[in-house]
Amino acid sequence: MTDYQNVSGRIFDIQKFSVHDGPGIRTIVFLKGCMLRCKWCCNPESQAFEIQTMMQNGKEKTVGKDTTVKDVLDIVKKDMPYYKRSGGGMTLSGGEMLCQSDFVYALLRSAKEASINTAVETTGFAPFEKIEKLLPYIDTVLMDIKHTNSEKHKAFTTQPNELILENAVKIAEKAKKLIIRVPVIPTFNDTEEEIREIAKFAKSLRGVEEINLLPYHKFGKDKYDGLGRKYLMGDLETPTDEKMNRLKAVAEQLGLYCKIGG
Ligand code: SF4
Repeated sequence: MTDYQNVSGRIFDIQKFSVHDGPGIRTIVFLKGCMLRCKWCCNPESQAFEIQTMMQNGKEKTVGKDTTVKDVLDIVKKDMPYYKRSGGGMTLSGGEMLCQSDFVYALLRSAKEASINTAVETTGFAPFEKIEKLLPYIDTVLMDIKHTNSEKHKAFTTQPNELILENAVKIAEKAKKLIIRVPVIPTFNDTEEEIREIAKFAKSLRGVEEINLLPYHKFGKDKYDGLGRKYLMGDLETPTDEKMNRLKAVAEQLGLYCKIGG
């Protein structure tokens, strides 16, 4: 057992048997903390690093708990037979895993020592050195590119996008596999022109062949009520299948393999 096993971090959920967020059957570890505040975020309870209380179905629920690499991996390892058969493994999600990069480093390194396939979902919004250190232990990087226009990016996520775009170029140089993901959000980035610009950027990245378009949904709306927060997306509807297929065709025209959904 290495020292990494006792490194502690803060998570708010572990979901088993996911077939999204990386190849095969996966266990998703959701970490607390995010530097962005996307208006559409469906996991608002992930954003603050602090442990919170949230109302759910009329009852108080504590969101967040401190744990160790060993405790997380003990849960993840239970599904090894499923990973082996399906090519799956562990995915770190959030929140933003880069908020807890020491914990994530220890977790990824220990997972690889245990021959577990690893994936991360990330905004890439952190100094590159933090990301670079993790890359040798990540099999698939699922990176969000939400918009190519920095002002619009900031208006909807609270942060500009220059660092994210710069990091995407650097990650593409060193990652084993990089897939670009785009949450398709009405009034933000759902025009053919906007998706074309993102797809062009994705296509320019070394080795990137795949882009995923994730349609906006309102599944997280009740959580805002539970946290005593206002839901900022109002009554916007999920993009229709027809619209998503049109946007998919835009990305495909640029020579990318495009999947709707994770
Ligand atoms: S980056 Fe993800 S977790 Fe963070 S606020 Fe945006 S949608 Fe939520």
